[in-house]
Amino acid sequence: MELERLLEIKFGYTSFKPGQKQVISSVLSGNHTLAMLPTGTGKSLCYQLPGLVLEGHILIISPLLSLMQDQVEQFKRFGEKRVVALNSFLSAAEKKAVMDRLSNYKYIFISPEMLKVPFIMKRLQELTISLFVVDEAHCISQWGYDFRPDYSKLGELRGKLGNPLTLALTATATKKVRDDILNSLGLTNVTKVESSIDRPNISFQVEGIPDYHDKEKRVLELAAQLEKPGIIYFSSKKAADQMAELLIEKGVCRTSAYHGGMDQNSRILIQQQFIHNQLDVICATSAFGMGVNKENIRFVIHFHMPMQMESYLQEIGRAGRDGLPSVAILLFSPGDETLPIQLAESELPAEQQIDWLFNKLLLNSDAEASKLKPELRELGGFSEQQWRLVERFLEPMPQNKIELEKLHETIKAYIRERLTIKKNNIYRMKKWVESKYCRRQAVLEYFDEILVDKPEPCCDLCGLDLQDYHVRSRAVQLAENEETWQQYLANLLIHSELRE
Ligand SMILES: [Zn+2]
Repeated sequence: MELERLLEIKFGYTSFKPGQKQVISSVLSGNHTLAMLPTGTGKSLCYQLPGLVLEGHILIISPLLSLMQDQVEQFKRFGEKRVVALNSFLSAAEKKAVMDRLSNYKYIFISPEMLKVPFIMKRLQELTISLFVVDEAHCISQWGYDFRPDYSKLGELRGKLGNPLTLALTATATKKVRDDILNSLGLTNVTKVESSIDRPNISFQVEGIPDYHDKEKRVLELAAQLEKPGIIYFSSKKAADQMAELLIEKGVCRTSAYHGGMDQNSRILIQQQFIHNQLDVICATSAFGMGVNKENIRFVIHFHMPMQMESYLQEIGRAGRDGLPSVAILLFSPGDETLPIQLAESELPAEQQIDWLFNKLLLNSDAEASKLKPELRELGGFSEQQWRLVERFLEPMPQNKIELEKLHETIKAYIRERLTIKKNNIYRMKKWVESKYCRRQAVLEYFDEILVDKPEPCCDLCGLDLQDYHVRSRAVQLAENEETWQQYLANLLIHSELRE
């Protein structure tokens, strides 16, 4: 059946979004495919549709548990019941039930940790995997901002499954990261579908603001003036809460904070209220946005500078999905790079913590040395995220002291390297803020792309009038409505003349 026809019958869409058809055709022709499609292009269709044609199972590796749940729900909405997510959300009993009838599921979502479990791998080896999908494939590369060590094993795991046909999907990846994805998965002869990361209907503006207090004042102004709905991103939960309170107190707009510190139910409620236009503005941390399909977001403001260009692009990419003019505004005060650097440092254990831990381990007698004791986490002041990294290096625990010493140096070198990468990303982001030439061109250069058509308006450095994004005044709206009425009447007259 023709792809367009399948698209309409099964999904109710009349046309593909840019890139989708090339990816699907490539996969269905049996080519390994690397697809870089901007957020909001409907990446999941790229494996959903081939699943209707290919025999066998579609295995989708995804690092984001919440996104996985969203996708399963989305499949069900399209009437596809043969879908399951294998992740740590499942209870032991649920997991067993799923594993018992694994062959009944056409689409199997799985987290990389689960894929490593020998029992699960064994069950998967019994199935015919017709497509191996790596979602958020940039997590494979250690050059990527979101490197997941679990992802670096995917090439090996793919081998265990007999190197099935593979589709690697990402929204934002530099050329270096894309090359890394292919190497790591062991893919040669790959069809690459790389659409431009440019979103011509979103213009850029960076504003230098003297200090924090002035930034708050500026946000109050912008939130009042700009056409809504909009999102304001913060790097700190506290700042998001404070700004939301301030906006409400001043009666500027209907708003709420949204961050990882809130309970699941409140988060769902706020998301729904925003989607259904009961809230105009969300004061959010980066926890907000994934899976929020709202087409008409008119502005995204960054109160703090993001940690890397990739995140910035993802976040501003939530604006203007309807293709209408939208604006991305970043507010920058001197010294603003300190916060992301602190965040980067806090994600990794400090060298002193690692030294302390290894001293403890080296003092252990052979009998107690075989396992990493959980109480060491608290004693050493490791956060959950930091401890995960420690566990990854220390499980299984080295068998002798020489190996342990060696590992001590390896882990420290790894931490230094990650921190250097993260800091470089922050400096590059700051360099962009301080750009002297077209911001759009600078963004594209970061992703090794050339700006071919500069849209109008483009960015503050090319000339931008923020007034174009203001709520249209009452008088203008009335005048426009009047014009519409006149046109309407004129049309009516023409039609009645024709009839006569
Ligand atoms: Zn420009």
